[in-house]
Amino acid sequence: MGVIYKKVALIGLGLIAGSMAHAMRRGGLAGEIVGYARSQETRDTAREIGLCDHVADSAAAAVVGADLVVLAVPVGAMATVAAEIAPALAQGATVTDVGSVKAEVIAAVAPHLPDHVHFVPGHPLAGTEHSGPRSGFAELFEGKYTLLTPVDGTAPEAVAKLRAMWQGFGALIEEMDAEHHDLVLAVTSHTPHLIAYTMVGVADHLRRVTESEVIKYSAAGFRDFTRIAASDPTMWRDVFLSNKEATLDILGRFTEELFVLQRAIRMGDGDALFEYFTKTRAIRRGIIEAGQDTDAPDFGRVAAKREDGAE
Ligand code: NAP
Repeated sequence: MGVIYKKVALIGLGLIAGSMAHAMRRGGLAGEIVGYARSQETRDTAREIGLCDHVADSAAAAVVGADLVVLAVPVGAMATVAAEIAPALAQGATVTDVGSVKAEVIAAVAPHLPDHVHFVPGHPLAGTEHSGPRSGFAELFEGKYTLLTPVDGTAPEAVAKLRAMWQGFGALIEEMDAEHHDLVLAVTSHTPHLIAYTMVGVADHLRRVTESEVIKYSAAGFRDFTRIAASDPTMWRDVFLSNKEATLDILGRFTEELFVLQRAIRMGDGDALFEYFTKTRAIRRGIIEAGQDTDAPDFGRVAAKREDGAE
């Protein structure tokens, strides 16, 4: 594909920025990659593992001369970072972000940016429960959607170039309105995370009653919740604070559905439960058919040997 951007500045050097750096290197998509993260520790780690060609000591220094600037910090830090880099941005540069919420990030970032740059917000729908400079890998975005939410009037060439970069990562790209993005993500990601956090919290309370049984007999359902509930606390705090309305809307609907199922259980209405679970199973099939997950049993995990020798 060849070099798309001559110099890329990654602000924040965690899972997403790190994966972008690996994917850019693999595809030869960037002439030079410069990075910056808030803590000395992360900057030192990034230098040690050679995550970027150069690690700068300030966000403003990192963006000098960059034709692509990626804001890959928690959503709540986007405004501060945008204010810091604004005076140093090159003429005609594209600024993008990878934040999990779009409307609030646009409202936080856009006012700081000078007229001579293009702002193309984005969000890769790819991640793991790991974070930090060592957690990234080049394949993270392969076959996964990246949603771009350009505001009206954005130069089409700037959007096309950014699309080309995500294509080079193996991602599928769609464009949508920021508000629509936030509602869709409230359903597909944000509320499910909140439910996982809650379920693990409930089990934690119960653990005090049943001692270690919750962990010892942890079966697929609960174990999968714990993986999601291990996600970065800062990132997810910021997601809920900044996608407040859509999350509360979906949580309200969720609670109503929960009461419907609760009533069916109380009334012994097996037909209602069966019908409900049949519909939800079809949704899972749809996700597999769309290539967004594996249909291998237990997500393809190999049966691990447990301490007691059982498979
Ligand atoms: P991460 O692994 O926790 O990394 C966050 C990075 O941001 C760290 O390098 C951190 O530096 C830096 N940072 C935090 N506050 C900063 C500040 N005020 N100024 C400069 N740097 C700062 O996070 P991530 O998973 O890559 O997430 C980054 C963004 O991608 C978030 O907006 C998140 O919503 C979005 N996102 C995440 C996922 C996911 O599944 N993880 C998926 C899609 C999108 P230190 O290490 O020095 O603290």
